[in-house]
Amino acid sequence: DLKIGVLELQGDFAEHSAMLGRLGAHAVPIRSVEHLVGIDGVIIPGGESTTIGKLLRDWDILPTLKKMIADGLACFGTCAGCILMAKDVTGYDTLPRLGTMDVTVTRNAYGSQVDSFETDVLSEFWKGEKLHAINIRAPSIDAVGEGVQILASFGEKAVLVRENNMIACTFHPELTDDTRVHELYLEVVRESKNTEALKN
Ligand code: GLN
Repeated sequence: DLKIGVLELQGDFAEHSAMLGRLGAHAVPIRSVEHLVGIDGVIIPGGESTTIGKLLRDWDILPTLKKMIADGLACFGTCAGCILMAKDVTGYDTLPRLGTMDVTVTRNAYGSQVDSFETDVLSEFWKGEKLHAINIRAPSIDAVGEGVQILASFGEKAVLVRENNMIACTFHPELTDDTRVHELYLEVVRESKNTEALKN
């Protein structure tokens, strides 16, 4: 049974936990650093990246979680979660964040709240099949480092990316009935666990 920590500081963590339940994984609420013990992976939900980042720092979860991810803990971030995982956030360099993923993002890149929109995006990973993307004040991924794979894109922009033990997307699969992205994440969790086991 996989135990997946879901960061419950702010945002749509409940939808992620529900999705994990549907896939037979156990969702562990993370509200303090003690809750990180024994998890096989972590999900950073959508919400407000400035709020989540500030709480991660003020409640002293940030340094430990950052080190765990750098050491191979599988991490999945959606929307604000993607922003918090990004090494570079254009114009918000001081945003407290994990900064573990080699991507550059821009917050609210597609306009303001009224400009939230839904669209089908093309997934390179699922061989050109479509993914339905719900975008809520979504960030854009503007640049990716060499080790980052683009798994889905919308026009010129990557919207779902993977770097080793990390995946991030700018949309909200947890708000749909489509379980594919979470299933992919659980695969990444299993792979990272195997890599860990080999190291020990
Ligand atoms: N606009 C939000 C931010 O900058 C992200 C929105 C979301 O997570 N749906 O943090």
